[in-house]
Parts: sequence; structure tokens; C-alpha cells
Amino acid sequence: MAKKNMSLTKVPMPEHAPDVRNKNFEEVSLGYTAEMAMEEAARCLNCKNKPCVSGCPVNVPIPGFIEKVAEGDFEAAYEIITSENALPAICGRVCPQENQCEGKCVRGIKKGQPVGIGRMERFVADYHMEHAEPVKADIKKNGKKVAVVGSGPSGITCAGELIKKGYDVTVFEALHKAGGVLSYGIPEFRLPKALVAREIKSVEDLGVDIETNVIVGRSVTIDELMEDGYEAVFVGSGAGLPRFLNIPGENLLGVYSANEFLTRVNLMKGYKFPEVPTPVKVGKRVAVVGAGNVAMDAARTAKRLGAEEVYIVYRRSEEEAPARLEELHHAKEEGIIFKFLNNPAAIVGDDNGWVKGMEIIKQELGEPDASGRRRPVPVEGSNYILDVETVIIAIGQSPNPLIRHTTPGLECQKWGGIIVNEETMESSKENVYAGGDTVTGAATVILAMGAGKKAAAAIDEKLSSK
Ligand code: FAD
Ligand code: SF4
Repeated sequence: MAKKNMSLTKVPMPEHAPDVRNKNFEEVSLGYTAEMAMEEAARCLNCKNKPCVSGCPVNVPIPGFIEKVAEGDFEAAYEIITSENALPAICGRVCPQENQCEGKCVRGIKKGQPVGIGRMERFVADYHMEHAEPVKADIKKNGKKVAVVGSGPSGITCAGELIKKGYDVTVFEALHKAGGVLSYGIPEFRLPKALVAREIKSVEDLGVDIETNVIVGRSVTIDELMEDGYEAVFVGSGAGLPRFLNIPGENLLGVYSANEFLTRVNLMKGYKFPEVPTPVKVGKRVAVVGAGNVAMDAARTAKRLGAEEVYIVYRRSEEEAPARLEELHHAKEEGIIFKFLNNPAAIVGDDNGWVKGMEIIKQELGEPDASGRRRPVPVEGSNYILDVETVIIAIGQSPNPLIRHTTPGLECQKWGGIIVNEETMESSKENVYAGGDTVTGAATVILAMGAGKKAAAAIDEKLSSK
């Protein structure tokens, strides 16, 4: 048995220096070496009741895989992780571990930092990708076909689970590239696209057919898919419709939604204009409104595109900022300027219709609101103008209405989310299932994957009993 490591802190993650990395798109964190992973694994107490497992939305058997890492048997660790999680290289990088598995870690609760579960998961997945030989899957087909709408983490997970159970699975994706937010939203410096492509290829290698450039609701409807012989449809179409502030000046040139901005950079490679036809213009000074992961990604991307001053403008305080702690920390290190308790009142334009500033009202915290967080209250007479040439709005997204408008019998929430039975993920329309952001609103990769997995199990149970 390996000797326990009683250090109060995690083995540090090697990273590129902030003033070097904020000028390029290379991945910021370099990942553990085998020695570092084994040293970190020796911090796990292997608690009897395993609270970390209940903190993981897909119940990865965490102490079991950590034990194998401590022994240096990384392939065995990989087997254990992938018994519950099909995309470990992605989850190890982007899961909000502090609120999930690591948030429940006894070492973190008692004293010091929790065990670095995400870092080890990432190491094991990367190790496997580097060393393992591709295995030819021998799957017995059952003659039934299922359609999946959207190739984000919920759709890909659902497709991967169903193909292993013998179904013919076709994924219909509106964009020209598969991966959903993993491809078009989360930037390269946090999640390398080659890695996403590899995870998607592993599902295709099992036999999943991914048809890109097909907009369900436009190119084909869900009813038409069912008439075409698909016995069930899983809708994992995400929440890609950006919300806006509804303040004067939002239509000025130089105002982006974070979605558009990040898509232009990540998917359309706008920074290579004119080599590519979709430019992305960033001023010397940029204000990003919001303080979630999306806002951090937009701010850090703007910095990498050459902006000299990048501001995060957020109406609440740092304590309420929804971004992962690591993202906030990295953004600060890279020189992003935080303006907490500052709320935009208007965007100001020049004579040519381009942004030249943002009017801001300072806020103070009042009584808690319906969300339980203290409500920001404007400080009278505190208005000022922040000089910026670009504004990026990152205050949330909702599901696109196309599918609900073209699918009779599909019941949805007022805000657009598809209503499902939480046990089976089946919607009000028989044999139409849904999961991920299109059901919950903007959430997390691992929750979307968990929903895809749950739906696949329910689809299989229903179709196999037919
Ligand atoms: P998506 O990933 O949105 O995928 C939906 C797919 O469906 C898309 O490819 C879309 O093109 C396609 N589609 C939509 N409509 C149709 C249609 N009509 N026909 C065909 N295809 C359609 N989560 C984390 O856990 N950690 C993070 O660090 C993190 N950072 C984020 C950063 C950004 C910039 C963004 C935008 C989100 C981030 N998230 C993060 C959230 C996470 O990415 C999402 O919760 C997750 O991707 C949701 O998965 P999904 O499968 O439901 O939808
Ligand atoms: Fe933690 Fe995410 Fe891995 Fe679960 S999938 S163990 S929450 S990093």
C-alpha cells in the first residue's frame, strides 16, 4: 500500500506564466506528470462512506480510481472512471469540481485543500489517449434506430450509450462541426479542440453517425424523423439563445453576445481574417458584462486577441460570481480588471454608430432576493462612463425556440425549457426525450452528460420491452 501524503495542499498544477499565456491560445494548464498524479493520489483518505462519489453527478467511483492511480496502474484507473463517465479528459478539465466531487472531499472540509480529483481524472484520460491501442467494439445490433438532436455533451453521451446497447444512432447537428459548446463555446486555452475531436471520434468509431449542417425544425422535423422509422428521439439542443440587457445602445456596432463572439473565435477562427471570411473586431478596451464561465472565457479571449484593457462588469459582488474559482483566478492572473457592484445603464456610441463607452451605475448589496443572494441596489448619483470600444454581453442563454415551435405536443416551460419526467427524461410527446441545457437552462457539461445517460437507459428500457 502506498504511503499517505498528508500535505494540506494539492500538488500544484504546472501552468504557462500569465504574461505569456494571455497572448496565445495554448492550453493554460499543462497537466500532471505520472509522479505528480501518484503523489496527489496518496492524499486520498479512502473514506468509508465516499462522500465525493455522491458529489459527482454521474457517480464516478472516485476512491477506486484514485487507489489505482496511487499504485501507478493508470489503465485500471481509466477503466474505473469510464465505467461511469464517457468523457473524462473533458470533465477533468471543465467540471466545477469545487461544487461537486471535491466540494464533498473530507480532506477539504476538515482542513486544507480537497484531493485534486479533477486533475487526476484529466491525467488518467490523457495517459490513456497517449498509450492505449484502439479497441474494436463488437456490438450486436438490435435493428432499432434512434435519432439524437444536437452533438453537445448530452447528445454525444446519449448516442454513445445507445450504440453500445445495439441501436443504430444518428446525431443531427445544426452546425458544421460536432461538439456543441465544447467546440464553439469553451476556448482552446481551456479545452483543446483536438481533444474534443478525439472524444467525438471515439463515439463515431463505435458506429454513431453524425450528420452536420442539419437543423432539426428546419431541415427536418421531429415528427418527420419518427415517420422515417426512428423509434425514439433525444433532444439535446442546448441553450444557445443569448440574453441581452435591454438597455439603450445594445444595437451599436462593437456589441457582441458572448455566444457570437466566442463562436467567431473558436469555430470560425475569426482571428485569421481575411484568411477566413468571418472577422472578429476587438477594440483596445473591452467590457464584458457578467461573471460566469462564459464571461471569463470571453474576457480572456479578448485579451488574447490584443485588447489592452479588459473589464468584467458585474452588478453583484465577487462572492456571488458564478464562474468556477479556477477561471476567476486565471482571469485575474492574466490581467482582467474586475468591476464588481457595477451595473451597465447604457452603451454610448460615436457619430458612426460604433461603441465608445458604457454608462455604469455603482451598486451596493441590499436584502437577499428570490435567488437567496443579496440584491444589488443602485447607488444614487454614482453614474460614470467607462471608455470602451467593444462590449460583450455574457448574462446567460436560453433554449432556441425552433424545436418547440415545430414540434406539436412538446410541452415547454415559459422560459423555453423542454418539460420532462425527471426519472426517464421523456417529454410530454411520446418517445421524445430531452436533456442537458435545453431542459435545465445553461448548466454544466457533466449534468448534460448525466441527463444523456439517464435518457439512454430509459429509451432502452422502453424500446427493448416493445
Ligand atoms: P450544447 O453543448 O449547447 O450542445 C447543443 C448542440 O445542439 C449544439 O451543437 C447545437 O448547435 C445543436 N443544436 C441546437 N439546436 C439544434 C437543432 N434545431 N437541430 C440540430 N442541432 C441543434 N460547463 C462546465 O461544466 N464547465 C465549464 O467550464 C463551462 N464553461 C462554459 C463556457 C461557455 C462559453 C459556455 C457557453 C458554456 C460553458 N459551460 C461549462 C456549460 C456547458 O458547456 C453546457 O452546460 C453544456 O455544453 C450543455 O450541453 P448540451 O449537450 O445540453 O448542449
Ligand atoms: Fe468530479 Fe466531474 Fe470527474 Fe465527477 S466527472 S468525479 S464531478 S471531475
